[in-house]
Amino acid sequence: MVARWRRHDAARVPDGASARDSSLAHSGVGRAVFAVFPHTMTQPTCPACSLEDVLSHSDHWECATCGHEWPKEAAPEAVRVVKDAHGTPLVDGDTVVLIKDLKLRGGSGVLKGGAKAKNIRIVEGDHEIDCKIDGVAMALKACFVKKSE
Ligand SMILES: [Zn+2]
Repeated sequence: MVARWRRHDAARVPDGASARDSSLAHSGVGRAVFAVFPHTMTQPTCPACSLEDVLSHSDHWECATCGHEWPKEAAPEAVRVVKDAHGTPLVDGDTVVLIKDLKLRGGSGVLKGGAKAKNIRIVEGDHEIDCKIDGVAMALKACFVKKSE
């Protein structure tokens, strides 16, 4: 069984966490736009003559020196950085601690602040952390945890 926090449960928290929620959501949108418009692509060198006088066309490069043309490669997707409540980057395998009580799905219980989750996994979605707490699989928002040693 996988217990998941409901998004609207988190949004009801009245202590400013909801503001961080919306900024998280926006950063997710910005990342998607960035993936569609990779404007930071760096100028390559010509694979034929290795000179740097390269012309950029919409879908390919052209070497101004030897005339060689080659296709543009899709820019690698920006690396996602998930940060905890204090801005510390989280990665797979980290241990995190809840910084506050969290209501369980359906209001059937509460996860206590201070509960520890070891060996987390960073995943897509608005609940960035996949983990187990007391043996139960959980999906948590990174803004409700802090990284632990
Ligand atoms: Zn060339």
